Amino acid sequence: MSGGESMAERKLRRLLVNRTDQLAHIREELARLGDHESLRQLDASMAEWQKSEGASPYDPATALMRHVTEEMKTALRDLGLPQERLDTVFVCSFPQDDVSAQMTPFADGSGLVEVSDSILTLAGLYGQFSGIGLARIGARGPVRGLFEALRAARAGAMGGDPAVLTALLRYYNVNQRVYGKSAKLGHRAEPLVMEIGSLVTLQAARFVIGHEIAHHVLGHRTPMSAFSPGEHVPACSGDQRLELDADLLAHRATVRASEREFAGTEAEPAVQFSSVLGPLVAMLAVHVTEQALFVRSGTTHPPARIRAKLLLDRIDEREQQVATLFLGSLLTATERSAVFDGSAPVFDWEWVDRSPDLLSTQPQEYLRSITVLDRLQSRSRDSLVELMERLAEDAGSWVAEGARLAIGGNCESALWSWGVDAETAAVLVDSRRALLFHTLVDEIRTGLAKRGTADSALLGASVAAACLAGSGLRSAAGR
Ligand SMILES: [Zn+2]
Repeated sequence: MSGGESMAERKLRRLLVNRTDQLAHIREELARLGDHESLRQLDASMAEWQKSEGASPYDPATALMRHVTEEMKTALRDLGLPQERLDTVFVCSFPQDDVSAQMTPFADGSGLVEVSDSILTLAGLYGQFSGIGLARIGARGPVRGLFEALRAARAGAMGGDPAVLTALLRYYNVNQRVYGKSAKLGHRAEPLVMEIGSLVTLQAARFVIGHEIAHHVLGHRTPMSAFSPGEHVPACSGDQRLELDADLLAHRATVRASEREFAGTEAEPAVQFSSVLGPLVAMLAVHVTEQALFVRSGTTHPPARIRAKLLLDRIDEREQQVATLFLGSLLTATERSAVFDGSAPVFDWEWVDRSPDLLSTQPQEYLRSITVLDRLQSRSRDSLVELMERLAEDAGSWVAEGARLAIGGNCESALWSWGVDAETAAVLVDSRRALLFHTLVDEIRTGLAKRGTADSALLGASVAAACLAGSGLRSAAGR
């Protein structure tokens, strides 16, 4: 053991090694998908990064995280939190897309905060979108801007067309549900909008990191967090009071860090709004992860609507008013993007293709396949059963048999019928465990492949099967 190193630091060192492997993996994946534009951008930003940082051992996401962490520790010290306590918490980014952020306390009193890349990706989508609305306010001055904002909100146009945000989130959700990966469409915007969007994203990152550090400095000793709906976290009894305390301290620290950065600059007027909007965006990013990606989530934290209200109740009334307006359209898009049934706003690649606001670096074919996969998941249960009966002609009768068992509420037998082994099936139906939709797809796909289902039918059959089993497993909580 190296002298003086805490348990959190030791864990951190192991995680940093994995990170290098992950970047290599992303490059391979992009090459495989034929996404040469993203690959070029990734290599260019890595090269740019290495040039500016010299021999920095950190990738850009980790480096951003380290920078924000230092800012937040300084802000918390300004707010009177003890330096000795701040010195024992460490923060790193991690590549797991299903957990947003979590703080692990260690026996020696140290703590390790892990923040996933996906929460930054999601916050970026919301940030860019909110940038449009904030640019409107900023361009007209605070008083006139507020009036304009109120009028725009009444017309339902706050922060741009909610359908655009819905499409951005929908694309992200379908990719996560089917492939378990973080994918995003670009959003075309003017430089001012982009700049404000990045500010909101930064504020969201500050808030997430601040929230986790707050758990540590406030001495909360459970590994559970409102930013962690993941299946890797034990589902223990949540304490909403602890979450609210962490939120409030994180918000104060976000404001403080922003004041340090922007006091006396042109950006000063944006500090107040963005320090409220950043936290709201962070809360929504967790909400969409939990609602859209999980069959069962492992948390007991309050939904974004309630959590946001608790925070908004504590801030200045004027900020509260504007934030509430934004929240309305952001929440609507968030909730719509997480619906997978007959009423879902299915991802429409043709609409995206025509949209002046959206752009994709993926081949058109790929966008089209996302529409097909979304439409599949948004079918009624009866039509899914019909579909599986048709697939069974080529794929084997057990495909239809499983579908009938699933719709009859017997999910475990359905999984057996699809070739999932008994041990795995028992884990999947265990209502005490969180379960990702993507995990369900993956396990069924493996099972069907073992039973000899043809490659061409494999993806469609496993997604349809996961939809049928998923609704049974969701409602079977407490079984
Ligand atoms: Zn928390």
